[in-house]
Amino acid sequence: MAIMDIKVPDIGDFAEVGVIEVLVKPGDTVKVEQSLITVESDKASMEIPSSHAGVVKEVKVKIGDKVAEGSVVLTLEASGAAAAPAPAPAAPAAGAAPAPAAPAQAAPRIEAASFGGNADLECDVLVLGGGPGGYSAAFRAADLGLKVVIVERYATLGGVCLNVGCIPSKALLHVAAVIDEVSHLKAAGIDFGAPQVNIDTLRGHKEKVISKLTGGLAAMAKMRKVTTVRGVGQFVGAHHLEVEETTGTTGQEKTGAKKVVAFQRAIIAAGSQAVRLPFMPDDPRVVDSTGALALKEVPKRMLILGGGIIGLEMGTVYSTLGARLDVVEMMDGLMQGADRDLVKIWQKMNAKRFDNIMLKTKTVGAEATPEGIKVSFAAAEEGGTAPEPQVYDLVLQAVGRTPNGRKIAAEKAGVAVTDRGFINVDIQMRTNVPHIFAIGDIVGQPMLAHKAVHEAHVAAEVIAGELQGNKELASAAFNARVIPSVAYTDPEVAWVGLTEDQAKAQGIKVKKGLFPWTASGRAIANGRDEGVTKLLFDDSPEAHGHGKILGGGIVGTHAGDMIGEIALAIEMGADAVDIGKTIHPHPTLGESIGMAAEIAHGSCTDVPPQKK
Ligand code: FAD
Repeated sequence: MAIMDIKVPDIGDFAEVGVIEVLVKPGDTVKVEQSLITVESDKASMEIPSSHAGVVKEVKVKIGDKVAEGSVVLTLEASGAAAAPAPAPAAPAAGAAPAPAAPAQAAPRIEAASFGGNADLECDVLVLGGGPGGYSAAFRAADLGLKVVIVERYATLGGVCLNVGCIPSKALLHVAAVIDEVSHLKAAGIDFGAPQVNIDTLRGHKEKVISKLTGGLAAMAKMRKVTTVRGVGQFVGAHHLEVEETTGTTGQEKTGAKKVVAFQRAIIAAGSQAVRLPFMPDDPRVVDSTGALALKEVPKRMLILGGGIIGLEMGTVYSTLGARLDVVEMMDGLMQGADRDLVKIWQKMNAKRFDNIMLKTKTVGAEATPEGIKVSFAAAEEGGTAPEPQVYDLVLQAVGRTPNGRKIAAEKAGVAVTDRGFINVDIQMRTNVPHIFAIGDIVGQPMLAHKAVHEAHVAAEVIAGELQGNKELASAAFNARVIPSVAYTDPEVAWVGLTEDQAKAQGIKVKKGLFPWTASGRAIANGRDEGVTKLLFDDSPEAHGHGKILGGGIVGTHAGDMIGEIALAIEMGADAVDIGKTIHPHPTLGESIGMAAEIAHGSCTDVPPQKK
């Protein structure tokens, strides 16, 4: 038996990616193509498969390590004849939107179960899951003339985003931003005094925002004659889904009644759920984002596990309401994915919210005590120092989300699901089963609502095109160049396409236009001139000095509302002159985008003369 090194294969244009999960241990028997580790860039996560079968001797990487093509993942005692190397995982181009997972035809063929019973409902398209992906797919398919059934276990449509994600978090973040803004006005001579917070009314306000939107969705489903079936759906065959009807608020209380839906085509949009660390005690003082959004009370000391966007947004809300924050993050910085210079500005503005920012640190244990949740830490890297255990009134687990692919009996329909629960699709959002599509969080990173909606429209159009013989619709594909990311913190941090850190790591030559908001009349008038707007243009020799925009980032108030313009510029292939000569209204924060382009071009007159 040969001992061999299993290495990271070609992962596209990524120079280095972080290990976020180790899926095997010494002594495990692995098959060819079995996932060994999961790595993540700012935009995509991918599983690194084994190129050979055998028994794992030694795992050479740990969570938090950076790996690149050729890094040794583990040593393997190979069994039998060495198997053919597995294909490399699909990897996006630099700064680009990740291609939706691997080509579907690369997935293994799985024998679907045969269902011999009767169906209660029949439809052209079944949509499993009523989140932004699911309802958008259902509505688009209905608008294209198809008979649609949508299955959702909760009482309302809207999924994570509307019910326990994007919308409630933004309702609370808006309130927090107004409280913070009002307190800044003291310096302008206006003092409203300390805010009086009525937490029950605030919670009610958030609930009202949610029900306004979910009520609107229910009405729009009716208008489109989309049939909504409430219950937990699982496939029972390649063309049948069984729904166990649910009631109540948890999405899990079954009534005992069942329905079978027969479909010609299906779109899986079953989303994701928060990762729970296995050693965390089952205690009301330990919550995930859904628990944090329930806003039961404001703790004195709060720990955020995971320094990503969701944790930092919730931390912003709680700290404005009075909590002191600690954050623990395994990587070497908060808000991974965004350029460090942008995050630095956010961090400086937010330093006052935190007692401790524990980087390169992992959480290794937690205990429920009468005083609070006692959490212990360890250094994430060898030789690092670990902070002392601390006691918290509330611990928010925000260490990522895991897809729901393993909970829908996908195999009964012949649909392949990865070890982590993702469903691989091709550029038309088609799974390995040609008549079944998948969209949204369940197909991969980035787990964002706007990505889900765009994928939804593609799947619905392809299906309508195929069923109606419309070649144009049938050729729809998800070919967005970029997907913007936004942290709706204060200030907001938004970025899209190539980042400067990526450009450096990948040796991509860029020309940078960075406009400091200290030169923006509007930002100064608002009393918020800490921001910057940064644009990156192709500066390779082939661009001959007229390079197209490759990426951009903004830190500052309303950054999220402005990043769409940069995304549009990238999609349209604009250069610095196109953007700089587009007349932006004055005085606006949006003007900073035009000025950043002018700075790259050398024609900005709102900053001191640039060095030639
Ligand atoms: P989901 O929204 O997860 O919807 C899936 C639906 O399927 C759920 O309603 C679920 O109940 C249902 N379902 C699952 N399995 C079954 C089954 N077997 N039977 C019946 N029903 C089933 N994204 C942004 O773009 N912007 C943001 O500002 C943002 N903020 C966020 C804040 C928080 C706190 C969180 C947690 C997430 C946030 N997101 C944000 C991410 C966003 O919510 C998700 O990317 C988005 O909801 C994914 O949509 P989806 O349709 O793929 O899945």
